[in-house]
Amino acid sequence: MTLPLLMRPFATEFAKPVCPKPGLENDEIRMTNVERIPKSEDQMERHQVPSGRFGFRDSGFLRHWSCVIRISVPVRSAAQAGGFSRWLSLFAVAMLCVAGAPPAFGWGETGHRIVARIADGQLTERARAKVRLLLRGNSLEGVSVFADHYRLLDTNSAPWHFVDIPVSATNYDRQRDCQRHGGCVVEQLDHFKRVMADTHTSVSNRAFALMFVVHLVGDLHQPLHCADNNDRGGNEVKVVFFGETNSPAGIPWNLHAVWDTGLIEHRGLSEIQYVRKLTARLKPETIPALQAGTTIDWALQSHSNAVHFAYQIPANHELGAVYYRKVSPVVDDSLLKAGLRLAGVLNEAFDR
Ligand SMILES: [Zn+2]
Repeated sequence: MTLPLLMRPFATEFAKPVCPKPGLENDEIRMTNVERIPKSEDQMERHQVPSGRFGFRDSGFLRHWSCVIRISVPVRSAAQAGGFSRWLSLFAVAMLCVAGAPPAFGWGETGHRIVARIADGQLTERARAKVRLLLRGNSLEGVSVFADHYRLLDTNSAPWHFVDIPVSATNYDRQRDCQRHGGCVVEQLDHFKRVMADTHTSVSNRAFALMFVVHLVGDLHQPLHCADNNDRGGNEVKVVFFGETNSPAGIPWNLHAVWDTGLIEHRGLSEIQYVRKLTARLKPETIPALQAGTTIDWALQSHSNAVHFAYQIPANHELGAVYYRKVSPVVDDSLLKAGLRLAGVLNEAFDR
């Protein structure tokens, strides 16, 4: 693989910690100290990415990238475990990011980080300590979009991010909505919940599962990840958003993308401001009720939001202030519930 010129100074740096070395445990996740990379101002400058082009803020871009690079698979038995080649694949994911293919397979970066931050605020001390230990000190928000990058590496994981419940349906049918795609967010989330809580499985498997749980609870609460109108969850519905046919990333707006990023970014709040806004009036006594329900219940709530709000667009497909005012409370409610429910899931798994 020929590395883009831009990346060469980094390639050497990243290659070091993941070269096969004796004595590493197979279930060990090693974290490279990417925070210190790039080392010079000059390198930093050259690696900054215009947000308009990539749809990432500079810091977000580096954070994404760091997250992918940080997860290196142990390599003592690289041959049988595929460790080194796996790392190379992860590196390839980073290359894709640099090459300008920002993943947008759920709430965008901001949405996932908001969900993770809300959850972090509701963790018990015991659960937070165990989560931090599994993530080797990384924050929930820091790993919240790892699954989207992993999807570029393993395309078989693509169906894990959504469940195609038809808009005409009122129930979840495993065969119709999940199995025909070879998996879905409902089953995969429950699977990863079990794995992350299983103390008999390896640390790396548990950490991997935890990162997916953080992400998939978010995806499950994006209404268009739980509904389909034969349009790939609104991906094929071209729209104009506040007079713009293209997103800031230069990609034509579609209904799904408006829900992933457009509605959240249009609010004009920072991630922390958004979290404060959502949690400002939260009463502790109401939290257990908001956290209640099964994965299927949550998927059906999202499906209902898609049918009654997301898909209720004008015939000319022009989405402006009227649509925004109508659906923004649903966006906020979904983000808040996702955060609280993620906290509930993590407390249940780790506070014991
Ligand atoms: Zn996703």
